[in-house]
Amino acid sequence: MKALTVRVRLAPSPTGNLHIGTARTALFNWLYARHTGGKFLLRIEDTDKERSKEEFKENIFDGLSWLGLNFDESPILQSEQIHTHRQAIQKLLDLGLAYRCFATDNELEEMRNKQKEEGKAPRYDNRHRNLSDSQKTVFESEGRTAVVRFRIDDDSLIKWNDMVRGQMIWKGSDLGGDMVVARRAPSHLIGDPLYNLAVVVDDHAMGITHVIRGEDHLANTAKQIALYKALGLSEPKFAHTPLILNIEGRKLSKRDGVTSVSDFKAMGYTPEAMFNYMALLGWSVPEGMEERFTKVEASKAFGFDRVNKAGAKFDWDKLNWLNAQEIHDWPAERLLDELKPLFKKKHWSIPNKDWGILLAELLGPSITVLQDAIDQSRPFFEDPILKEDGKKQLQQEGAIEALKSLESQLELNPWDGINIDTPKELLNIASKSAGVKKGLLMKSLRAALLGTIQGPDLLISWSLLARAGSDRTRLRGCL
Ligand code: GLU
Repeated sequence: MKALTVRVRLAPSPTGNLHIGTARTALFNWLYARHTGGKFLLRIEDTDKERSKEEFKENIFDGLSWLGLNFDESPILQSEQIHTHRQAIQKLLDLGLAYRCFATDNELEEMRNKQKEEGKAPRYDNRHRNLSDSQKTVFESEGRTAVVRFRIDDDSLIKWNDMVRGQMIWKGSDLGGDMVVARRAPSHLIGDPLYNLAVVVDDHAMGITHVIRGEDHLANTAKQIALYKALGLSEPKFAHTPLILNIEGRKLSKRDGVTSVSDFKAMGYTPEAMFNYMALLGWSVPEGMEERFTKVEASKAFGFDRVNKAGAKFDWDKLNWLNAQEIHDWPAERLLDELKPLFKKKHWSIPNKDWGILLAELLGPSITVLQDAIDQSRPFFEDPILKEDGKKQLQQEGAIEALKSLESQLELNPWDGINIDTPKELLNIASKSAGVKKGLLMKSLRAALLGTIQGPDLLISWSLLARAGSDRTRLRGCL
């Protein structure tokens, strides 16, 4: 027997930027597809005409491509499948498994209010399930519109074996009564199809074998399984991944600051670290595997047996650690390439490639997110503001004399910033002739050049400034 090819999908709605939760769902789908040699597909669920926006669609595509979650077939637009959704609804009507419900919004609200008063959970009470023809005629003659509702028997049990959560059983009575599958329309028509129906029809049409999505869809899965059965379609397997929680253990939301992949990108997180980190949001590596891994390693090791049921807490420290590790491993060329657009935004220009590489080599080891490099690069592009510690340093006894002496040495032997032995000699001579310790001169020089006594390697910093021709102006500025 030919083994079944795994076909999984991401089905985002383009009603917002690519959310970290959706991206993590995409990642698990992608990992499973790569692990099994299957296909990862994309379906844009763009049926909400008001809220769906082209810019969000673009943001989703960009985010997936930035993370390297490439899909294997052309994306499907749900809005283009509406006729097939309507056909399925017609089939349910023909089979007597769905019916038109003429209840008005007011009647439904009254029903819910009454349920509330009685302390019951709100649900549709299936009141129009068995309307007689004459009742229908009355409603139609009143000009009422109708939704289409799919029958969900209260005493039915919906079962599936979830790849993460094991055996699942939902009672039909817990699904809120007969479910609307098409919006309100004049009763000879079928209104706009709704989410659960559309998903079932589309997943079937796309040959989806495994539906992998967040656990907030558990009740939808139960409804969808009932629809698969009613439509005579074989259902896929389901895996429900845990929610992403904030530090306090609540669902990660806008209030936690960043929630979309593009936000993380803008903060200077790398796609590699994001990929790595998101895989760990709900999945734990097998014994013996490091928590820092490549895409290939992750796709080899991935499986739902190691996806946790419990919510996954968002851990900034771990993400930062992974990001720093990633950046520290980059060759300077790559770091420079990543920094160039950020520098450009600041109108900072790099005198030449060697200079840029030297800067990248200097800063690389101390960067956690790319944005850090902006703060740390500033003194190499803009004259620094003298900080309190720098001021104190320059007030030290002998500091200014030593810098003056260095300046006169530079006058005699200007340094182009290339030969790294020259400044060492100059520092020796200058400190001796000023009668101060070399350490004091070096600290004071750092304060003069960079405005503070904290910072990266002094000689390389000086070399960068010397090559850009700004070391002596800064030095003189302090004398
Ligand atoms: N459009 C739905 C969402 O974004 C899809 C859920 C699903 O995967 O079926 O939540």
